[in-house]
Amino acid sequence: MPIKKTSERIDINQRRIINGADADVMQLYPMRHTFAWEAYNAGNANHWLPTEIMMQNDIEQWRADDVLSDDERAAFKTVLGFFSTADSIAANNIVIAMYKHITSPECRMYLLRQGYEEAIHTHAYQYIVESLGLDEGEIFNMYREVDAIYDKASFILTFNEGIFDPSFKTGTFEADQKFLENIAVFSLIMEGIFFYSSFAVIFGFHRQNKMIGSAEQIQYIMRDESQHLNFGINLINTIKDEQPELWTEEFQAHLVGLIREAVDLEATFAATVFPKGIFGMNAPSFRQYIEHIADRRLARVGLPKQYNVTNPFPWMSEAADLNKEKNFFETRVIEYQTGGALDW
Ligand code: FE
Repeated sequence: MPIKKTSERIDINQRRIINGADADVMQLYPMRHTFAWEAYNAGNANHWLPTEIMMQNDIEQWRADDVLSDDERAAFKTVLGFFSTADSIAANNIVIAMYKHITSPECRMYLLRQGYEEAIHTHAYQYIVESLGLDEGEIFNMYREVDAIYDKASFILTFNEGIFDPSFKTGTFEADQKFLENIAVFSLIMEGIFFYSSFAVIFGFHRQNKMIGSAEQIQYIMRDESQHLNFGINLINTIKDEQPELWTEEFQAHLVGLIREAVDLEATFAATVFPKGIFGMNAPSFRQYIEHIADRRLARVGLPKQYNVTNPFPWMSEAADLNKEKNFFETRVIEYQTGGALDW
């Protein structure tokens, strides 16, 4: 469709997260959803690449007979099996569903950055698999072979149905609620819950001084993911402000139900992948941890907490909640944010 030739300028009040197409998605300014611009800048400041992290130690530990137990190897591989396709599922939703229907140019700008970060994460898993000489087919096909991973992935993928349909459009009450459901599921559940028992396992390795290169990759991923989660929460809360009619009691109860279902799926994943527990973390403590973070996600979008349990892995919140802007790991990665990496 050709653009309309006009000297009439953009009205900031027409900007909407969804259904704001009249406000021209090509013009970044005037900006209304400044949280997206802040997220974009934070993402750039946190830029990293998997190949900058040394994997030599991990390779030696993986090859050695006396460093990792069979249970630890199995847990490591299964966690990697979940991760290896999860970021592709997230990336597809950004590119095929969200980008098309989000009409705020500044939010689209962040989605471009977020999509690239999901690609970097998939690259990181590929790099770990390649470095350790793991069977690529075994790891990358786990989401179709291992029940506990399959169940999570197929739960998530059902929320693409309808939205991936080329004829799907926002603009009606039903369609807008469906789209909001998609954002809630992908940010609160996929990015906010489904990664976290796997993160905890990898931090378990790290705390034992095992597989620290892989753990460092995952730490960077977790930092990016917490930005993705924050952005998703901002999207949800802004849509609630812009279209309060969507946030019905019934819809809220529906989202709470989905989150409770996700908690069960994630707890089942943790219990079946680590049947004997790992690094002192057992099935009940995994469930409690998942319940704890689910309550936090619920509270951030104004939904009632469901579990009211304490955090059994306090060391996780240290790792997860540290200032996102900072490079908080002892790290070998280039400090992109200082701009000081160039040495003339
Ligand atoms: Fe993500």
